[in-house]
Amino acid sequence: MDAPLVIGVDVGGTKILSGVVDRDGTVLSRHLVESPDGSGSTVLTALEESIEALLDERVQAIGIGVPANLDRESRKVLQATNLPLDDFDLAEYVRARFGLPVGIENDAGAATLAEWKLGAGRGASNLVLLTLGTGVGGGIVLDGALYRGWAEIGHMVVLAGGPPCQGNCHGHGHLETLASGTAADRAAQQLFGAEADARELVDRALAGDEAAEARFDEIAGYLGAAIGSLANLFDPELVVVGGGFGEAAGDLLLERAQAVARKEALAPADGTLRVVSAELGTDAGLIGAGLVGFAALDALGTT
Ligand SMILES: [Zn+2]
Repeated sequence: MDAPLVIGVDVGGTKILSGVVDRDGTVLSRHLVESPDGSGSTVLTALEESIEALLDERVQAIGIGVPANLDRESRKVLQATNLPLDDFDLAEYVRARFGLPVGIENDAGAATLAEWKLGAGRGASNLVLLTLGTGVGGGIVLDGALYRGWAEIGHMVVLAGGPPCQGNCHGHGHLETLASGTAADRAAQQLFGAEADARELVDRALAGDEAAEARFDEIAGYLGAAIGSLANLFDPELVVVGGGFGEAAGDLLLERAQAVARKEALAPADGTLRVVSAELGTDAGLIGAGLVGFAALDALGTT
């Protein structure tokens, strides 16, 4: 019999990316559905379409990564970010619809799982993933298992009394406000005018522009402070930094942030903590969803 495959589904606020994934995390085929934001039923229709488009007889399970806070035990969606799926058992709905085992995970958790099992975190027992994009997200692996709590790492305070946070967060001085692509956009506009963005800030800093480099010292300072605190809380062997901005600015941020983090971390992490670049890029969420599908498949065999 052919080795089983799963469909991984990475549910975003405006699009749903699905893929047929094998056990090594290779994405064999993929499908993208733009999901009109609106009612729950249109999101579910788009989700079903994303799965139907890839179904064949080798697919034996489905894994879903969703931007939502999930109940740790029942895995029901408690509260979804930008999706009308609150208080809904999405996994059970998909299971009933397709007759296959279904696993579900928070999207940042799914990406963390992928980087841990198949990316930059291979072999580690404890790690933290930080994704720096428009906002800052992430996940935590503790004692060889994905932490299933609602880990909103982007909303840790790195500057008490600092600038107000983004979106509907009412906090101040949060990591997301000070070390995201949005923060770099803002810095670029202050230095180079209203048309400038994070990409330009990165390019100018890499070319040796001192004002741009100084902004990365500042951003890396906040990032390093957060990582130092995470090191003192969870003692990870490494911290993996991904996301669109995290990867574009990796050469400017990672070494600087590691140096700052080691200054804050207690021994022995003050000499051993590593801050490394993510390896799976924008596929991390999709591959992680696939791993969640395999976990659901494997759970059947053990019961
Ligand atoms: Zn916040």
